[in-house]
Amino acid sequence: PSNPPKWKRVVVKLSGEALMGDAPHGLHAPTLERIAADLASAAEFGAQIAVVVGGGNFFRGIQGADKGIERARADSIGMLATVMNGLALEQAIEAQGRQARALSAVPMPSLCESYSRRAALHHLAKGRIVIAAGGTGLPFFTTDTPAVVRAAELSADAVLKATQVDGVYTADPKRDPSARRYERLTHDEAIAKSLAVMDTAAFALARENKIPIIVFSIAEEGAIRAVLEGRGRATHVVP
Ligand code: UDP
Repeated sequence: PSNPPKWKRVVVKLSGEALMGDAPHGLHAPTLERIAADLASAAEFGAQIAVVVGGGNFFRGIQGADKGIERARADSIGMLATVMNGLALEQAIEAQGRQARALSAVPMPSLCESYSRRAALHHLAKGRIVIAAGGTGLPFFTTDTPAVVRAAELSADAVLKATQVDGVYTADPKRDPSARRYERLTHDEAIAKSLAVMDTAAFALARENKIPIIVFSIAEEGAIRAVLEGRGRATHVVP
């Protein structure tokens, strides 16, 4: 028998972009399948998993506002985008033979269950992967904030932030070839060095509640499982 997961209960923050693969927008079926298989495998390994899914592959409020849609309304459209991804992810995980429940912070009872802490805890205890969609249900946030809020209210041990790069760097590694990756950082160091780990509001909440944030790349197959096994490259942002 192998070691248990490094964290017993985690929130995985998955951006909408992670689901679009090489496509310019929307959902890329093979990528969706790969990530669903990774999540199912991570759950099989023994971790309890809640996924907070973004919507940027369809719509982001700020972009809508730039095109003249009032911000609060544009954010409503963005929240709907996260529900689209949540429903797609729910079905993709179940196709892997693992139960999943999409819960929306914006009530849409004919599409899925509404998010409540009680419902989320119930499904986690049953071994189901919870997909928290609809963000916070409030405008003027991105899905980084509900990722940390869900982690705090569900007593998760860490937020696993899936990104396009394999951690936090001293500078943008795509522009600066001398950029170095941090293996480990404290929340305070990240703030002192102005390193953008996630949105400021969300990061402040993580710092205050001493929630570790693990930043890793979702590009590799099995990336989430690898993080839970303590393999794979990542930056650990810890209290
Ligand atoms: N959103 C919101 N409130 C929230 C979370 C998200 O209004 O609590 C809206 C916001 O417009 C955001 C969009 O939903 O741009 C999609 O979420 P996000 O930008 O976080 O998606 P990601 O970049 O992770 O794909």
